[in-house]
Amino acid sequence: MGFFTDTSVCIGCKACEVACKEWNDVPAKELDLLGTSYDNTGELGANSWRHVAFIEQSRPSTVDLGMPGVRDEQDGVRWLMSSDVCKHCTHAACLDVCPTGSLFRTEFGTVVVQEDICNGCGYCVPACPYGVIERRESDGRAFKCTLCYDRLGDGLEPACAKACPTDSIQFGELDELRERADRRLAALHDKGESDARLYGRDPDDGVGGDGAFFLLLDEPEVYGLPPEPFVTTRDLPSMWKHAAVAALGVAAGVVLAFAGKRR
Ligand code: SF4
Ligand code: SF4
Repeated sequence: MGFFTDTSVCIGCKACEVACKEWNDVPAKELDLLGTSYDNTGELGANSWRHVAFIEQSRPSTVDLGMPGVRDEQDGVRWLMSSDVCKHCTHAACLDVCPTGSLFRTEFGTVVVQEDICNGCGYCVPACPYGVIERRESDGRAFKCTLCYDRLGDGLEPACAKACPTDSIQFGELDELRERADRRLAALHDKGESDARLYGRDPDDGVGGDGAFFLLLDEPEVYGLPPEPFVTTRDLPSMWKHAAVAALGVAAGVVLAFAGKRR
């Protein structure tokens, strides 16, 4: 199960941010006026499990997507809005490095951190290729989106998807969501929105595909997303192999040295 976030129909209402905070009892942050359009959340973190980015671009919208106007046609300015979240990676480095088993893969294929098991070591923080998971300053433990694990268990959809008034956030079986995303992308290309693209949809990418993937209207970097993310633990097996070979070499050297002394 996962999310398909179609940013082309996001109106930036932030209902998803609020619903997530309410349902999951995520603490409020002090209000920072960041000077980044209407975005005063800034980024994902321990206290922001959804983040709606507002990007102002000095270029006119190529096509009318049929959404309420948040662009100034005269000045040729368009706003891109996108609700970001944990990607619930197929190959999740956060999970690979967690020494306590606090991070685990659920029966729904999502990645969840258990707050009563996390010991606050913070290994998962630099391991995440998207900069999603973070330790909470007040108690040191790591927090991130759980894809509403408790709601899924009760047969409910995640709170953000339920609250989104435009269905920008869609929840469901990944295969079905991918088919839906492909159809939506083809429709946008037919309308002339040639920069539209899917991000995180490809199961052959560096993280094995995201459980939360996106339809974007511009390059991923514009939205603060890495263009080619890869699982940061991908080299661990070969590193262990090299370390094992080196250790065997040292052991053999010691044995030979003792054997030589005895003669
Ligand atoms: S996006 Fe980061 S925190 Fe989320 S599953 Fe992937 S590695 Fe873990
Ligand atoms: S609730 Fe939907 S439309 Fe509103 S900001 Fe979130 S994703 Fe965009």
